Amino acid sequence: MEIHAVRGMHDLFGEEMDRWRTVESRLREIATSFSYQEIRTPVLEKMEVFSHTVGDETDIVEKQMYTVLNEGTEKLVLRPEGTAGFIRSVVEHQLQQTGHPQRFYYYLPMFRHERPQKGRLRQFHQFGAEIINDPSPEADAEIIAVLDQVYRSFGISEYEVRVNSVGCPECRPAYKELLKEYIRPNLDSLCGECQKRFERSPLRILDCKKPNCQGVVQSAPRMVNHLCVNCQGHHSTFLHALSAAHVKFTEDPNIVRGLDYYTRTAFEFTSDLLGAQSALGGGGRYDGISTRFGAKTFPGVGFALGMERLLIALEAKQAIQANPQSPVFYFAPLGEAAYHRLFPLSFALKRRGVPTLMAYEKDKGLKWLMKQADRLNAKYALLLGDDEIKHGKAILKDMKTSEQEMLDLHHLEESLMRKTT
Ligand SMILES: [Zn+2]
Ligand SMILES: [Zn+2]
Repeated sequence: MEIHAVRGMHDLFGEEMDRWRTVESRLREIATSFSYQEIRTPVLEKMEVFSHTVGDETDIVEKQMYTVLNEGTEKLVLRPEGTAGFIRSVVEHQLQQTGHPQRFYYYLPMFRHERPQKGRLRQFHQFGAEIINDPSPEADAEIIAVLDQVYRSFGISEYEVRVNSVGCPECRPAYKELLKEYIRPNLDSLCGECQKRFERSPLRILDCKKPNCQGVVQSAPRMVNHLCVNCQGHHSTFLHALSAAHVKFTEDPNIVRGLDYYTRTAFEFTSDLLGAQSALGGGGRYDGISTRFGAKTFPGVGFALGMERLLIALEAKQAIQANPQSPVFYFAPLGEAAYHRLFPLSFALKRRGVPTLMAYEKDKGLKWLMKQADRLNAKYALLLGDDEIKHGKAILKDMKTSEQEMLDLHHLEESLMRKTT
């Protein structure tokens, strides 16, 4: 019986794995240069972590979560996004209590039960960054600058940074009513989803991608024109800070993000590299989220980017090359005596950090051994047979130039080490 991987979940290996590793290490470098510390939270969280924060009526909570029953009664969830678990962890360990701004990044697998398609898997990976305890609009600008740096560092310029403000609990309710009044006469022409959203989440109609819905809200009142004084001040300082950080952006009144917990700044990076205006990543400020865990409020702002989507964009631009791991030395012993000489030496080199591989099968001929050295893309092949041992020599072959050189068998380890500098 053939057993396959679960639908929408991928194996990563070979060149694809190499590309991932290249991108992963770049992301960590960027996070470090912006002074963010890594945090890892468990894959499984209690259901309430998401139903209280992401919002009961979002697609994620309604239909995309993988749930597991713990001891038959307690509902656990395979994490569908990063921020809710992050906030759970911050509150649990009272990291917010210091009152000092703190910066974190995460790189974690996420799980959502949706129809698999290009760039959208059921197990996918997100890289995200969060700043807690800093209410300043400059923190919002910095978070965007970090995400911007990811694309810049790969030489990608085909993307847009779209920013908006979704207000706060003080100014948003009145705007919601205003928006509903505006939409109500055209309620019938909205898609089914948006008709359901109309009463409780009318803002989400603004970012529906269906042409009919977009038509209805095209000239709708804009949140940015109905902000309270504090939100107005925050938004204009934020826009200035973003310019000062040299991030190019567009104001887009329809960026509201899918999740209920955003306040003030909301943003999305979109690119045509993934098909018309697809999201590469996004985020926003979520100052009120912690009250949902019974904690005092503390400010937070963050972004998440989908690794699979980033990889598609990078491949479309051929912005990364696979960087396969290959050995420096391939040991090719011919005969029993050579085998016993080289086996311990191969470990001595590995332990000194030099990637070294050795053929263990003793019945292979020179031709087979050279083919292996070639296939592995080894820099050098080391050949040793009874004749060479008799003369106290070993043959080192440069696999690129085919040049051969005789090395003294008694100082072999040091001669090989010199080749690696
Ligand atoms: Zn406000
Ligand atoms: Zn719609």
